Amino acid sequence: MTTAPTHVIDNIGVLVTNDPSLGEGPLGIVKNASLVLDNTSDAVIAVGPAGAVADDRTDANGACVLPGFVDSHTHLVFAGDRAEEFTARMTGQPYDGGGIRVTTDATRSATTDELHRLVRLRLAEAHRAGTTTIEIKSGYGLNIEDEARSLQVAEAYTTETTFLGAHLLPNEFAGRSGDYIDLVCKEMLEASAPHAKWVDAFCEVGAFDEDECRAVLDAGREAGLGLRLHGNQLGEGPGVQLAVECGCASVDHCTHLTDADIEALAGSDTVATLLPAADFSTKQPYIDARRLIDAGATVAIASNCNPGSSYTTSMSFCIAIAVREMNMTIDEAIQAVTIGGAEALRRDDIGRLAPGMAAHAIVLDAPSYHHLAYRPGVPLIAKTFGPLGGFES
Ligand SMILES: [Zn+2]
Repeated sequence: MTTAPTHVIDNIGVLVTNDPSLGEGPLGIVKNASLVLDNTSDAVIAVGPAGAVADDRTDANGACVLPGFVDSHTHLVFAGDRAEEFTARMTGQPYDGGGIRVTTDATRSATTDELHRLVRLRLAEAHRAGTTTIEIKSGYGLNIEDEARSLQVAEAYTTETTFLGAHLLPNEFAGRSGDYIDLVCKEMLEASAPHAKWVDAFCEVGAFDEDECRAVLDAGREAGLGLRLHGNQLGEGPGVQLAVECGCASVDHCTHLTDADIEALAGSDTVATLLPAADFSTKQPYIDARRLIDAGATVAIASNCNPGSSYTTSMSFCIAIAVREMNMTIDEAIQAVTIGGAEALRRDDIGRLAPGMAAHAIVLDAPSYHHLAYRPGVPLIAKTFGPLGGFES
């Protein structure tokens, strides 16, 4: 099968470009539009009125088209699931199944072929749901070999790979947190860095403290990696301030923020990445995103897909929660899952549909993007243009 060099998505009722110079408002809305894509370079060629001609054509029939979702926070490389733990949590039953350590055991035991198979299934699911760029972390290997192996699996599918050796203290290091962080910063980083673009750490009571996370970020920077951090998920803490101080591209979770945290984020170029599906699945309170947005901070929304606290790849589900529970307007939520995610990954080639940008677009089975929040749980993604697809079999 040969692929036509150019493709037009025609008869678009509402096109979200995210480029205010191309259309109305911050979303750069163009009505009755066409979008011409170059299949060879995978780039947008033109945004214009309906009726543009190209070698191949998709008729949007008046539906809405928007940039592909940028999911800037996932933990896709894992084996097993933790449905029993989730079920117990939902009914308030005590359950000590071992948490992240259950996933670590299952991931270490899985063959590499099995990890590839599982990641491909999750990517196909994400692609069907409109995701065209995805970040994937390690963090269930927690030893030199299995952290490097997880990243080798991830890098087969995305350039946005993140070394998260400092996810949780593995059982074999109980009571020896300092020794583990030493291993993470030296041999584990050395084995993982060739397969990673980013380094990340979990700054939280019960995971790692401020000094331990700073050591990991410093070592990662030294190894040439970009910086990200998990922080302020379960309570207020030093995560956000540390991320800003270290110049992290993003600090993720941000469920519990002080006014000083918000001020620090607003005065920095560190993106606040919110993970509404994690707060949903752990019965955490939702952050009031209005505080961040009104202060001038940049906000992204990501799925945090992982088997313990957020087993979803659906960015539409995250949009619906953000609008219903986090005081975001639908327009803001759409920006957060597209250009917000791009900024969290320091990417300027994705998240917008303008000439020269990546040809990553979603055709909705709906006349407007409002339906993504208005019709929660309904699969409204009719077609996804862009990478991460083709792994269904
Ligand atoms: Zn996470």
